[in-house]
Amino acid sequence: MPEPIAANIRRIRERTAEAALRSGRKPEDIRLMAVTKSVDDQRIREAIAAGVDILGDNYIQEARGKIDRMGKAIPWHFIGHLQTNKAKYAVRLFDMIESVDRLDLAIELDRRSRAEGRVMPVLIEVNIGAEANKSGIPLSGVRELVRRMLSLEGLQIKGLMTMPPWFDDPEQARPYFRTLRELRDRLAEERLPDTAMEVLSMGMTGDFEAAVEEGATIVRVGRGIFGSR
Ligand SMILES: *Cc1c(COP(=O)(O)O)cnc(C)c1O
Repeated sequence: MPEPIAANIRRIRERTAEAALRSGRKPEDIRLMAVTKSVDDQRIREAIAAGVDILGDNYIQEARGKIDRMGKAIPWHFIGHLQTNKAKYAVRLFDMIESVDRLDLAIELDRRSRAEGRVMPVLIEVNIGAEANKSGIPLSGVRELVRRMLSLEGLQIKGLMTMPPWFDDPEQARPYFRTLRELRDRLAEERLPDTAMEVLSMGMTGDFEAAVEEGATIVRVGRGIFGSR
């Protein structure tokens, strides 16, 4: 029997590469994150062995156990809603925090990063559909948040992350991905100091091909790799 996780990853890589080529991009410019929420160690190890680039988790507590047990063979990114009082654990555990969506969190992450002698790479999470029950900063607030974060020397802003509204049809998510890329491009043109603005983390199991066609550099896939939760 073929190993389903390895086969799933191979298929996602193929589809990612096809989407990249369709849109004139290089397949190697897109990194595949395996989202490990509620996935057991053995299956995470299979995903690492099959060559995913990044592991992502939403929960500090769960991730702490996983990282303790299986180490940092590849980078771990935090992708969940982060309470300010958990910032210190996030800084100790993760290689990138993709879900910075407010200034008080950024200030606390900065303080904790400097205390650890680190510069933490972060993404700004954008609530691109302005949905009431979703974390992320509204589109209209991104520029101001980025500007205010420029003085935080313990953080380096690498780009933007989003989770668009949920649709059955991935084509409906496409305009949201495009909007995020356009915002990223505008911010990149400003050449803000210590701000890279090259990473676009967007696209999940149901819509990663549209996200790649619109410029994603990290796709975050859970169910497509590990099966339904
Ligand atoms: C769960 C999750 C994903 C992965 O979603 P799937 O539909 O399982 O691929 C990606 N990003 C975030 C922020 C998530 O919480």
